[in-house]
Amino acid sequence: MSVQSTTFTDRQALWKTLQQGDSGWDMVIVGGGIIGAGVLREAARRGIKALLVEQQDFASGTSSRSSKMVHGGLRYISHGDIKLTKDSLRERERLLQEVPGLIDRMGYFFTLKKGQFPGRFVFSMLLALYDWLAGIKNHRYFNKDSIQQQFSGINSHGLKGAMYYTDTVTDDARLVLRVLQDATEAGGVAVNYMKVESLLKTEGRVTGVVIKNIHSAEHVEIQCKSVVNATGAWADRLRNEVNSEKRIRPLRGSHLVLPMAKLPIDDALTLFHPVDKRPVFIFPWEGTTVVGTTDLDHSEDLDEEPVISKQELEYLLEAVAALFPQHSLSRDDIISTWSGVRPVIGSDDARDPSKERRDHAVWNDNGLVTVSGGKLTTFRLIALDAIAAAAETLGKKAVLESDDSIFKAPGITTNELNIEDKQWARRLIGRYGKHAKALIAEASDAERLPIENTAFCLAECRWAARNESVVHLDDLMLRRTRLGSILKSGGESLFPAIEKICAQELDWNAEVWKNELARYQEIWRTRYYLPRA
Ligand SMILES: Cc1cc2nc3c(=O)[nH]c(=O)nc-3n(C[C@H](O)[C@H](O)[C@H](O)COP(=O)(O)OP(=O)(O)OC[C@H]3O[C@@H](n4cnc5c(N)ncnc54)[C@H](O)[C@@H]3O)c2cc1C
Repeated sequence: MSVQSTTFTDRQALWKTLQQGDSGWDMVIVGGGIIGAGVLREAARRGIKALLVEQQDFASGTSSRSSKMVHGGLRYISHGDIKLTKDSLRERERLLQEVPGLIDRMGYFFTLKKGQFPGRFVFSMLLALYDWLAGIKNHRYFNKDSIQQQFSGINSHGLKGAMYYTDTVTDDARLVLRVLQDATEAGGVAVNYMKVESLLKTEGRVTGVVIKNIHSAEHVEIQCKSVVNATGAWADRLRNEVNSEKRIRPLRGSHLVLPMAKLPIDDALTLFHPVDKRPVFIFPWEGTTVVGTTDLDHSEDLDEEPVISKQELEYLLEAVAALFPQHSLSRDDIISTWSGVRPVIGSDDARDPSKERRDHAVWNDNGLVTVSGGKLTTFRLIALDAIAAAAETLGKKAVLESDDSIFKAPGITTNELNIEDKQWARRLIGRYGKHAKALIAEASDAERLPIENTAFCLAECRWAARNESVVHLDDLMLRRTRLGSILKSGGESLFPAIEKICAQELDWNAEVWKNELARYQEIWRTRYYLPRA
């Protein structure tokens, strides 16, 4: 079977077109994380002929490694940044309406201890404002007894109670894929495993890019009206070709994934870490319990996948032990880990990493628009800022009013999927939009069954392999699905079934499978499991 993608660009066909010197591109977007995907979609909706180029897999940078919270940002409000909080909360509420099943509300309990600041009174005021800005009223106080009932085994020493409020949880990599799906359906082109090696300039102005095909090592030159650098933590690299200023401060954050059975929780819990008083979250995600995150300068090479350090692992286990001392969780209980690098816009005063602001910045240097920083939640607003910054070279199209929805309505209902579990149908529509129907219809009964205790099924693996530009096994196990992060040993028990799907959908023979499996297991063992001793 040929590798023909219905939702994404056929890589080989696109490469041929690029080699033939197809010009007429209005915009090249560098980087296939949430920001690049958002820019592609807003560009395509405005009739801007745009190409997005990602050096590795879509979402393989920071956008698959976040804490998965599409949140208003309690920290912004506590820093007095009302506008940013308000914008984030409005986007959050709209996302909840438009993509239920991909972005869902989650309860958060912020534990309060005796003598801790902020205490109940200040916290209640902050949350009243937080809810008011969002147009909801969900926050309330839970006393110690009810917290102990809600979270069995929680450390009651010094515990006063908890403030409850709601935010949301998502699958960040699927969020990127869903935005890319909307973008490609609006006429945008997105391709993975192609890298922008350098910028093309005419009389000092940026007029295009040099793209390297990662697999063939061939190069093409593409001329375009506008280049958008949406490379997140890598943003200084491309920008430094036109402006030597260094603005990105890469900050690493890591997470542990634990079996839900070992630490069962239905809502997120937050505590101030006993060592440095930073807030740490313990939250349910995809049938597991996740602990995160850390926040420290990342001085390693950005081209190496980030990995949790021994110190970070101990720090996170300490947080769990402080809250659940009786559970005696240790490194042997860990299913997997992940680390990501925040593209934070550094301040001049080299402050404590956790005190750096988290908003985005847009710069236009001789025609190169660089956009970096920010959050998942406000990706659409950030994308609009980038399009506005490109207006000087794009002309009228950049200022065209467009459809204001964040996501296009999928046009199907849960009933049309013909599956009994309506929650699951909702999840599939949230993730795959209108394609959820075909995903289910094209699968066998056996492939529709849930995989172990997860909400994933093999039908999704088949769909992704067939339609979502899967190039390597890690694309499938770590980003199209999260099976590699939530199942024991990187999902080893599934390998025979996945091998069969990859043979049928991607033409992988035994030799290719062997190589892909070795590559995936090496990545998983060294980057998604325990740190080196
Ligand atoms: C630990 C952690 C927790 C977080 N938690 C949250 C959270 O809960 N909620 C929230 O809203 N935000 C959170 N964030 C922040 C959020 O994840 C990031 O701000 C966001 O994902 C950044 O997206 P991006 O598109 O700018 O960058 P990325 O996702 O990194 O995308 C940039 C892409 O550019 C590609 N690239 C680089 N150079 C080139 C080149 N030359 N050619 C082609 N491609 C190139 C990279 O491979 C990469 O895929 C968190 C971040 C971290 C690290």
